[in-house]
Amino acid sequence: MDKKSIVAGNWKMNKTQLEAKEFIKNLAPLIQSARASVYISPSFTALQESILAANNTNIIIGAQNMHDETDGAFTGEISGGMLKALGVEFVILGHSERRHVFHEDSSFINRKLIRALKDGLQPILCIGETQKEREEKKTEIVLEEQFLKGIQNLSKKDASNIIIAYEPVWAIGTGKTATSEIAEHVHSFIRKLVVKHLDKEISKNMHILYGGSVKPQNVEELMQQENIDGVLVGGASLDYKVFAQIINKA
Ligand code: PEP
Repeated sequence: MDKKSIVAGNWKMNKTQLEAKEFIKNLAPLIQSARASVYISPSFTALQESILAANNTNIIIGAQNMHDETDGAFTGEISGGMLKALGVEFVILGHSERRHVFHEDSSFINRKLIRALKDGLQPILCIGETQKEREEKKTEIVLEEQFLKGIQNLSKKDASNIIIAYEPVWAIGTGKTATSEIAEHVHSFIRKLVVKHLDKEISKNMHILYGGSVKPQNVEELMQQENIDGVLVGGASLDYKVFAQIINKA
């Protein structure tokens, strides 16, 4: 793997703005010599404080979601433009909790992705199969569909700016990690999808992250795999010492 790896933390609905600030203040000195790029996505309410705290560090701040419209009657929603104005740099889209708990479909996720790119935010597009789909041997069909629908109507240039995160739903927050062999097998399949639907050059440069119960104990083995370019971390990103260990091993 010759590109710089990415370690991204997804805090989900955790941490107030003060907790976020404390976390970043504590984390930054521990990861000064990290090889990986470090991304953190706090809740909307902690974004501003996090951006200020991350100033002059190697930490990049992003959001966990956004709406696909620029403005209007969408009570409770946040636009990409609002995030960009705050200094947000990336946005997680299509996380399995958004797909399965909030019933977001691929077409909505695709519209958000297009908007995020227009707004100058780098999207992390999450794709992944459920336990049932894996048992029914539908993993590749599901991933190809989520990937294709996700990048629909994107130019190759825009598509080359996205990051893919493979997050098997059965491994998220469950303590069950895909073995490095399973993860590598799927990542290699996703890399081939990028060649097939975009092109070889884009596939070489695209970051494909693995997410699902990543911990300090399994990150090294995952990162040794040829097609794993980084990790997306939920639970283990909430403790700065644990997250620092993951970052420094990636
Ligand atoms: C996630 O929410 O993206 C995730 C991978 O969670 P966890 O690391 O807790 O499984």
